Amino acid sequence: MMPCLLQGARSGHCDLLMKFADLGLSDELLQAVEAAGYTEPTPIQAEAIPTVLMMRDLIGIAQTGTGKTASFVLPMIDVLASGRRRALMPRSLILEPTRELAAQVAENFEKYGKNHDLKMALLIGGVQMGEQVKALNDGVDVLIATPGRLMDLFERGKILLTGCDLLVIDEADRMLDMGFIPDIEFICSKLPETRQTLLFSATMPPPIEKLTKQFLNNPKRIAVSRAASTNENITAFQIPVKAREKRDTLRWLLRNDLVETAIIFSNRKTTVRELNKALQRDGFRSGEIHGDIDQASRNAELQRFKDGEINILVASDVAARGLDIKGVSHVFNFDTPWHPDDYVHRIGRTGRAGAKGRAFTFVAEDDAEAIANVEKLTGAKIPVFGKKDLRVELPKPAEKKAPEKAKADSAAEDEAEEKPRKSSRKRDERPEAEERPGRKQARDDRRETSSRRYHKDDEPVPAGEWNGPKPDFLGVGFS
Ligand code: ADP
Ligand code: MG
Repeated sequence: MMPCLLQGARSGHCDLLMKFADLGLSDELLQAVEAAGYTEPTPIQAEAIPTVLMMRDLIGIAQTGTGKTASFVLPMIDVLASGRRRALMPRSLILEPTRELAAQVAENFEKYGKNHDLKMALLIGGVQMGEQVKALNDGVDVLIATPGRLMDLFERGKILLTGCDLLVIDEADRMLDMGFIPDIEFICSKLPETRQTLLFSATMPPPIEKLTKQFLNNPKRIAVSRAASTNENITAFQIPVKAREKRDTLRWLLRNDLVETAIIFSNRKTTVRELNKALQRDGFRSGEIHGDIDQASRNAELQRFKDGEINILVASDVAARGLDIKGVSHVFNFDTPWHPDDYVHRIGRTGRAGAKGRAFTFVAEDDAEAIANVEKLTGAKIPVFGKKDLRVELPKPAEKKAPEKAKADSAAEDEAEEKPRKSSRKRDERPEAEERPGRKQARDDRRETSSRRYHKDDEPVPAGEWNGPKPDFLGVGFS
């Protein structure tokens, strides 16, 4: 059974009376939902599903990991159950910002639509077009696409959008920001004017919400949480750290905070690459994902991560949004993201579907402005990580040892000289900006034996005094 924590609705507790059966969905669909193991709808599902079935436009805002996908996929399946497919003319369209996310939504359609005769096509870049064109020729009920590939096929005359009267824009604020907006405007101009349009996101900056007006017709706005509020199942900390000590700090936490599975985000793809290499050299089972990697490798790496072959994924913001991977225990922001809404999305890769998660954000001098913006956006101070917040057991008094001061020679891994460059913060340059390699001072990782046990249900705690032995790297911000 889904814990109530999924999701703190408006009042902070859930409406236990609401059942999937009360939402107006068909019996076949209810069976598929039951087979998926869901016992009750999440608040966004409870509110959005009836609205979609009533054919109204909507803006749906709810925290990361609270089931926004099913809140459009489920009612869409019932809406599309009646009606006929036609060649080249998809009946509905779902737009996603990344290929991985489009593929994930397609999986959702397969899961929930197994009792229905609906055809789906996935139009994403980086894969051969042949199959996609063939599927379109045969006629599809649901098209799931990234804007680029869709435009491509449209311009080649392989697709007609005039029969597509249901449009979903997932991760809507991202889709309507500078990079994507021309494509979205173009695509919408090819869709019928009288259509149903649904927008979903966990974040929605006011200027972008204004933009949504041109795509929507008298929408119902459903916000089960304030936009950009973070999921309450995530315990988040910031760690003040010197830039050159970020790697040591990361390694230390990876070894000492009972990390099961982690995603480590960095602002630059060069950092992603170098960090992954360094972690691998240190014996961690890590992999990497960013926009420079070809699609086949991106898929393979993600699969290895999902299968548990690797338990650490170093990523750029291409992996920040939407990805739903079970059991991610930790998210690390190796850099504080330049755009505060990315923070909400990044840490939202953990704490999904009622599970608990931990998120650490490294704050070096360079990150000071960014972290201030994050706190402004989320409306909450992120506590500074303190000793009592550690998920590892602390040393028993008898075993207490002073931390060794000896520094090991740096391995060849981290020879890069720091070459400060002016970092570009323009939105259209993210998420893959130029790298600024950090210089590292290698140290032995100091481990602590421990006696305190981590409790799964530990609530987020305010930062506390660090009153025991302190690992050397934590010198900053803990004294
Ligand atoms: P969001 O888009 O809001 O970030 P997702 O749609 O990706 O979240 O869903 C997050 C996770 O929650 C998925 O693994 C999904 O299977 C699960 N989930 C969705 N709805 C329910 C529900 N009603 N009960 C239990 N789990 C659910
Ligand atoms: Mg989502």
